[in-house]
Amino acid sequence: MRRLAIQLWGFILLLSAPQVAAAQHPATVPLADGRYKTDILLVVAHPDDEGAATPYLARALDEGKRVAVVFGTRGSSGANEAGAEQAAALGEIREIEARNALATLGITNVWFLSGKDTASQNVLQSLANWGHGVCLEQLVRLVRLTRPEVILTFLPGTFIGEDHGDHQASGVLATEAFDMAGDPAAFPEQVAAPMKRLEPLLENLRPWQAKKIYYFPDADREDIFRGKGPEYSVKEISKSGKQPFWRMALESFRAHQTQAKSFLDSLAQMDEAQIEKMATSDSGWSDAQRFVLGKSLVGGTVTGDVFEGIKPGGISFVRPEAAAAPSLPELSVELAGPWSFYAEFRRAHALTNLPHPEPPEIALQAPGTLVIPLWLRNQTAQAQEITLTATLPAGWSAQSGTGKFIVPAKQVAASRIEVNLPALAENAPRKSDPQEVTVRAEANGQGIGEVKLRVELRKRALPQ
Ligand SMILES: [Zn+2]
Repeated sequence: MRRLAIQLWGFILLLSAPQVAAAQHPATVPLADGRYKTDILLVVAHPDDEGAATPYLARALDEGKRVAVVFGTRGSSGANEAGAEQAAALGEIREIEARNALATLGITNVWFLSGKDTASQNVLQSLANWGHGVCLEQLVRLVRLTRPEVILTFLPGTFIGEDHGDHQASGVLATEAFDMAGDPAAFPEQVAAPMKRLEPLLENLRPWQAKKIYYFPDADREDIFRGKGPEYSVKEISKSGKQPFWRMALESFRAHQTQAKSFLDSLAQMDEAQIEKMATSDSGWSDAQRFVLGKSLVGGTVTGDVFEGIKPGGISFVRPEAAAAPSLPELSVELAGPWSFYAEFRRAHALTNLPHPEPPEIALQAPGTLVIPLWLRNQTAQAQEITLTATLPAGWSAQSGTGKFIVPAKQVAASRIEVNLPALAENAPRKSDPQEVTVRAEANGQGIGEVKLRVELRKRALPQ
């Protein structure tokens, strides 16, 4: 054993000895490590979120595409169905479960950002809890490292649906990284050449501009997403797996014992026909996996294949051209919070075709509280008295935030109205039809604007 070790050591020394003769020839320069080059970079929030795309990933792998995955968090919150471990320890387990799930499909280039699980529908709370700047720096690094042709991620927007703030945060960060990774001025220490032989700080990555970004929605409403991007059948048979794509996705999902042990145990009791009926029902994988085109820098059609228009090789960095800010009257009221953020975000990232519901919408648990965040803008030269009134469905009541407010000259003030939501009837369905809330603002006896919001009451929903 010892002799073998000595021989190996000698071999290593021989390989790493300076090549005296090489001085006569041009030296080779080190290039990016090809093992990490990817065609598709999937960016999601939690372990098991990859399931939102695994039927498509199985298809792409069949077509010879390389796939890498980034998770925003390790999934350290929530119940543990498989054992006693909780919190950070649970996160360590879920990281392995996510790696194993992807390994069943053959995906091994998997990374985790330092985000933390955030139980809220508010993307701004998730971004704050993740450490927005740190996670963005990490994700830009991974885009430069993996050089994806296409980025796939959750749709950044707020909708009636599962609408997890962390899912939205992964879509926000992925969009920001799409627009920043090709910019040599963004995180320049990542793209700086080494100054020393064993460079400890500068990373020697190159800027990388991905060519397309696609989103998958986390919402119940299919109507506003249909026709906004390509659709892929989940029922076609994989050439390599010899089974439908949905079946490969389900096989992959079996790794998530801490999140779904009871479901996976019940699956073990079913025959193939029962599994197919369950998995391809409306609440499972229905016939198509649907994407929304965020933007393409290489042309192609909206509903064409994800790789339509993509040719090998890098493209130049494209700084997004922000649309002009909408002009507002001197006195106005607007819905603030995630809603006004997303309007700015779509404008800043030139996501002109990104679907969003009008009027804005949210699903909330009842009984509970609806918070309506508002911007009160006064661009006049005098302080103004603004009166807010809310028109609410029967049984709902304004708890605070209506009445008169003074907004000083040339100021934008944050305000919020809190509304008590009544309990749903014992025998009510799991969710009701959305109802409309209207906030009206007046100054000097004249209307200066109104805000509408569609609110669906549910027996269970994430906090607002
Ligand atoms: Zn999730």
